[in-house]
Amino acid sequence: MRFTDDQQKTGQWIRTLSAQSYRGWKAFYHTKEWRAKRKEILDRDHSQCQRCRARGRYTMAVTVHHIKHLKDAPELALSDSNLQSLCEACHNEVHPEKQYTPNSFRNEEKW
Ligand SMILES: [Zn+2]
Ligand SMILES: [Zn+2]
Repeated sequence: MRFTDDQQKTGQWIRTLSAQSYRGWKAFYHTKEWRAKRKEILDRDHSQCQRCRARGRYTMAVTVHHIKHLKDAPELALSDSNLQSLCEACHNEVHPEKQYTPNSFRNEEKW
């Protein structure tokens, strides 16, 4: 994947930040840059969950999700196209790695 100069700089900044902070990758979520961007994305999406909206439902978004995860592509941490407002249920769905119970869809796919 190719990144713009700004994205490269963001990636560098976040890698340094997380290496130097006791919070690790979570340090990013405490920066004023993220807080400002998060608000901007929630405004853009009218504080509605974008996955629910795609299914014709209107649910209040509580989180702004990185489509390409922060650890995988810190360069895209502040890029609008990589950010999506989601409700808690949808956010859990897009992060199966965070779920405690095995993902039945994945099992079906496997067998
Ligand atoms: Zn949702
Ligand atoms: Zn997420």
